[in-house]
Amino acid sequence: MTTTESRTERGTHREQRERVAALHAELTRNGLVTWTSGNVSERVPGEDLFVIKGSGVLYDELTWEGITVCDLDGTAVDGVKRPSSDTDAHAYVYRHMPEVNGQVHTHSPYATAWAARAEPIPCVLTAMGDEFGGPIPVGPFALIGDDSIGRGIVATLGDSRSPAVLMQNHGVFTIGRSARAAVKAAVMTEDVARTVHLARQLGEPVPIAQADIDSLYARYQNAYGQ
Ligand SMILES: [Zn+2]
Repeated sequence: MTTTESRTERGTHREQRERVAALHAELTRNGLVTWTSGNVSERVPGEDLFVIKGSGVLYDELTWEGITVCDLDGTAVDGVKRPSSDTDAHAYVYRHMPEVNGQVHTHSPYATAWAARAEPIPCVLTAMGDEFGGPIPVGPFALIGDDSIGRGIVATLGDSRSPAVLMQNHGVFTIGRSARAAVKAAVMTEDVARTVHLARQLGEPVPIAQADIDSLYARYQNAYGQ
């Protein structure tokens, strides 16, 4: 498949596609993506569908028409672009995690450097306790092309409070109750990946006690979660 064109075009879900297209600007603004890599998706409320960035679309050229509507098997049902090559992973997560309404994928550099070493980011910042409730875990090595990436994401996040997983040798996948929440998790993942990396250049970061992590997480999620 070398074309980025898809055969269907009906212009449905336009408001949501406009909003999700606009959210992609946060990926470039925060330095999380290069060229056409990375994507945001969001479940369509009340329908067995989600919207996701089209494959090979440049961020500067992304409008609602660059966002493709897919069913939960990852098949495009509306749009002029073939959906992102990561669509199967997003579809698998939507099928298996009903509470997830938004997802983001990036190869943001600091976080992906941890993924390249298959090393979880330890919870050594109160902001991590707030947002992630513990370390940011590593998921298995998986090749694109079947359900392997999706299965790795679901298996890893199912055992974690973290809304982010570092897929080994690959990059960051985040989940949220909305696309915006998943984007926030992707931005925060890169932020803490950078800070903990910097801390380690100077010595060994000091862990936070589990009871304190629990307390940070409970307070923050109660105040800002939902
Ligand atoms: Zn990727």
